[in-house]
This record gives sequence, structure tokens and C-alpha cells, in this order.
Amino acid sequence: MKVLLVFAHPEPRSLNGALRDVAVRELEAQGHEVRVSDLYAEGWKSEADRGDFPALAPEARLKVAGASAEAFAAGALTEDVRAEQEKLLWADMLILQFPLWWYSMPAILKGWVDRVYAYGFAYGVGEHSDKYWGDRFGEGTLAGKRAMLIVTTGGWEEHYAPRGVNGPIDDLLFPITHGILYYPGYEVLPSFVAYRVDRLDEAGFAAVAERLRERMRTVATTPPIPYRRQNGGDYLIPSLQLRPGLGDPGTTGFALHVDDVGTASRASAA
Ligand code: FAD
Repeated sequence: MKVLLVFAHPEPRSLNGALRDVAVRELEAQGHEVRVSDLYAEGWKSEADRGDFPALAPEARLKVAGASAEAFAAGALTEDVRAEQEKLLWADMLILQFPLWWYSMPAILKGWVDRVYAYGFAYGVGEHSDKYWGDRFGEGTLAGKRAMLIVTTGGWEEHYAPRGVNGPIDDLLFPITHGILYYPGYEVLPSFVAYRVDRLDEAGFAAVAERLRERMRTVATTPPIPYRRQNGGDYLIPSLQLRPGLGDPGTTGFALHVDDVGTASRASAA
């Protein structure tokens, strides 16, 4: 496979830098072709702003989605953004790697998403009407490709367990795995999370690195998270509510959108 790893850590000698090297080496050892977008090293501009739309008339009021749609359609996005989009189209798999900062990704990576995920590329794709709400959540420009996260945390695994004070890790990462990766079509693999890493010693590093190598060995075969497809029959349109009767009656929140028992979505996708 062709793999793009988008790396968001300011220090190459960090734990994240070392884990990136472990991941890249193992992927290459498995015969995959890897490219890395190192956002800090490349001086990635994280703010989406007027400068992203050089063709916009100086007197025009900036509406980001509209300007993004026009610039994407005209091939007039900035070169840095177009280069990242080309890498996404090139890659069969996307990996986002970052330390958990304030329960989410570092701002530079969020800014990569804000700018690279243009209207017409990652959103605003397909028919939008009362009967069809776009090619998204399982469909879209990046459908057929795989994606996953590599994340490190200071907090303990227990703190991110179902009853842990931070909230479950899959819930915290849901806006990224479901909202950013599944939305434009990726099949999303379970996240790789290394917990309690701030005082990791050599033995701890060796264990984390081995766990990461194992995940990198199986990127092509690991089953994705069974998120429900928006257009697979599980949701009412246009309210986009899960159909009555689907999901465990006791389940609420993000978990509703994972089809653990494989009902309507997969039946209608087949
Ligand atoms: P580093 O600091 O580079 O290294 C961590 C440890 O690994 C060091 O002790 C280092 O010596 C050791 N190490 C062992 N082997 C190696 C090796 N081969 N190479 C390099 N280092 C090695 N945590 C949470 O849980 N939730 C949060 O919401 C959260 N918010 C944060 C917000 C901010 C702004 C910051 C700065 C931190 C936050 N943290 C949070 C903690 C953060 O997630 C961790 O500090 C981070 O994941 C550690 O990764 P690192 O690459 O920066 O580690």
C-alpha cells in the first residue's frame, strides 16, 4: 500500500518522533511505500483565512466554505493545500500521528484538516437535497482507502476507560475518527493509543514500539470500525437520525453510530 503519515509534533527527538520512525520503518519493511507530512518541520500554516483564496476579489466578503468551493473547482487553492490533497489521493492509507493535547489534536493538525479538506474535496461532495445528504460517512472522495490514528497521552489508560474521569478514549477521538476520517470516505481502523508516556523509560518504550510495529504489520488486514454508512439505510433522511429500532435500546451518544451487530448498513451495502 501507499501510506501517508501526517505528523504533528514540534520536536523530532520526542517520543512521537521516535514512534514515527518505528512506524515508518515497519511499514517499509512490510513493503509499503511511505510519505510523511511533517507539519512543524514544513512550517505548515494552520489558520484558514483569506490568504487561502488568492483569487478572491479584495472587496468580497470572505465566506470560507463558498470561497473553498470556488477555489477547489477552479484549481485555485494554494500550492501547499493542493500538494496535501494530491498526497491524500496518492495514498491508500492515511495515518494521523499526534500527542493528545487538551483532549484533541494539536492546533497545527486541526489547521491541516481545516485547509486541506476543501469544499468539493472532503465535504460538499455528491447530491445535497431533501432526499440525499451528500456522499459522506462511508462515501466520498477518499472512499476505498484506510486511515487510523497514532496517539500518545499523558493520562493513564484507566483515566480513559469507560468509567474514567477523562471519558472513554474512543469517544474523545470520535470527532476525528468519525467526523474527520470516516466523513470523506475512509475506512477507519481502531486507534493506536500509547498511554501514560510522560515518564516512559527504555523498557516502556520497547513495549510501546513493539505494539506499534504489530499494528503496522497488519494495516492492510485489520478490520475497520463498523461505523454505520449514512446512505446505507440506517438513517432517516433528511433528519439523519438513526432509524427507530436500530442500536441497542440502552445505547446513546457516539456508540449508536457503530454497528456492532452488522444490521442494515452492511446488508444494504452488499
Ligand atoms: P516526550 O515528552 O518527547 O517523551 C515522553 C517520555 O518518553 C520522556 O520521558 C522520554 O524520555 C521518553 N522516551 C523513552 N524512549 C524514548 C525515545 N526513544 N525517544 C524519545 N523519548 C523517549 N495528556 C493527556 O492525557 N490529555 C490531555 O488532554 C493532554 N493535554 C496536553 C496539552 C498540552 C499542551 C501538552 C504539552 C501536553 C498534554 N498532555 C495531555 C500530555 C501529552 O499528551 C504528552 O506529554 C505527550 O503525549 C507525550 O508525547 P511526546 O512525544 O511529547 O513525549
